[in-house]
Order: sequence, then C-alpha cells, then structure tokens
Amino acid sequence: MNMALKIWLNDRLVDEADAKVSVFDHGLLYGDGVFEGIRVYDKRVFEMEAHVRRLFDSARAIRLQVPMSKEDLTRAIETTVEANRIHDGYIRLVVTRGIGCLGLNPFTCKTAGLIIIADKIQLYPEELYEKGMKVISATTVRNHPLALPPQIKSLNYLNNILAKMEALDVDVPEAIMYNHEGYVAEATGDNVFIVRNSIIYAPPVEAGSLEGITRAVVIRLARQEGLEVVEKNLTRYDLYVCDELFLTGTAAEVIGIVEIDGRVIGDGKPGTITRLLRDRFYSYARRKEK
Ligand code: PMP
Repeated sequence: MNMALKIWLNDRLVDEADAKVSVFDHGLLYGDGVFEGIRVYDKRVFEMEAHVRRLFDSARAIRLQVPMSKEDLTRAIETTVEANRIHDGYIRLVVTRGIGCLGLNPFTCKTAGLIIIADKIQLYPEELYEKGMKVISATTVRNHPLALPPQIKSLNYLNNILAKMEALDVDVPEAIMYNHEGYVAEATGDNVFIVRNSIIYAPPVEAGSLEGITRAVVIRLARQEGLEVVEKNLTRYDLYVCDELFLTGTAAEVIGIVEIDGRVIGDGKPGTITRLLRDRFYSYARRKEK
C-alpha cells in the first residue's frame, strides 16, 4: 500500500488529502506558472542549486515572484524529501501565479502558490537502456523562441504534449521536435545529442530547448573523458546519418536511440560513447561523496 505523502503547500507541509489548489489559481486557468523536476539519489537532491536557479530564472522571465528566497526554498525541498523518507525519487516543484480573477490579468493574483511533491519515480524499463529506444520526428514545431522562449520551464507544456501524442500514436515513447527553421530543438522532455566520427554534437539551446541540467552535466563528463563536444545546429539529415543518437533528462538520465522515423541508427544498438556516458552519469549521480 502506498503511504500518503506529505506535500509542501505554500509555507508548510500538509497531508496529501489536504494538498489542494483553488480553481481560481492562474496556474490551472492559464498554465501561468513554472516548475522543476529534480532527482533524489541516495537521499541527496541532485544538482539542487542548478534546479533552484533555473526555477528562479523561469519565474523572472515571466515576471513571477517566487514566494520564498532561494535559501528558504532549498530548505523547504530538503524538508519535504526528509518528511517523505525519500531515498531515491523525484521532486516536482511548482510555482503558480496564484489565485486571481477569471480574466488573464496576472496582477489580480496577489501571492504566488508553491507546491513541492517528493515521491517515487517512474523510470523507463532497464531493457530500454540496453536495447535502445525508438523515436519519431514530430510534425508539431517547437514554440518559436520569440513567442515563448523554450528556456522557460513553464506550466504550459501543450507544445510538447502535442508532439508526445504523435509519438504515442505510433507506439514510441519520444518524439524529436524541430524549430521553425527545421533545426533540431529537443525531444518532448529530453535534450538531444548525436555522435559522428567520435565527436559529440548538441543543438545549441537557442535552437529551442530547455537548458537541460542533465545536458550540462553530460557535456562536462564527456569533456572530462577527453571527448570533443560541439554545439551546433542539427538537421533531420544529421540525425539520419549519425553514428549514435542519445537523449538526456532528469528522469531518463542518458538513453540511447536506435531508430528514428523507422530508420536504423548506427548498428541498431546504443553506441559506445552513449554507453560510456550513461555509465559515467550513472556513477556520478549516485556517487557517495558529497
Ligand atoms: N527538455 C524539456 C522540454 C524538458 O521538459 C526537460 C526536463 N524533463 C528536459 C529537456 C531535460 O532537462 P533536465 O535535464 O534539466 O531534466
């Protein structure tokens, strides 16, 4: 039986049954808010500082005042993890615009809402890491950065959800999204990398992706291994002819892609560099020292 969770709601922990938000919260009415997804490994919050910083940046970009300082928020996250005795799990951090009038006007919302959930995590099955995952190219174009900058991790994920449905319709878990110019942006919940002639290429964040925290760690670990990492615009052609393709994200970590749009990548198995980086990331995230 699942134990009821303790949820951080605004300024304190409450029982899961009491963790409710108003139907007038603009987070619900308009997707007006920001969020983070964070891993807990062995009771440690992974890359806490980077996630808290990204949350504050997302909030700032939409003129939303997080109702706590970075330090207090960090403590609230730790408190929630401890209260739920999470060893290995997932934290969902949400800041909503708060309760306001029915109109769009965000200035009618006096105080932002804060939700912290620390729970177990749903992972891809191990087999998918060994055999590799299939993806498709989405026809849904990534949000134009001048309309809604993809660096903002906002509560409005419809752009990604439309692409995700295209993938699920054909029984694959992920879709690659391209920007309005046809360059690779990201997957619906992960960043994209390819390998060609032993060089790693990643689309620049400006191509229309979230600045992934796993992405940054993987780039650092790859360079520590002496591998060359180049950020440059990639096209669908680049994905079709690459030697290796992999995705990175908080939940997925590093996962090899072996087929895109029905075309086999490399020799149809997760490549050597993908497996090396998955190993390095796995050990780094679960390292014992602080
Ligand atoms: N892109 C999108 C759209 C995401 O939602 C996420 C997070 N799941 C990522 C990329 C990966 O970012 P991170 O490594 O910080 O989880």
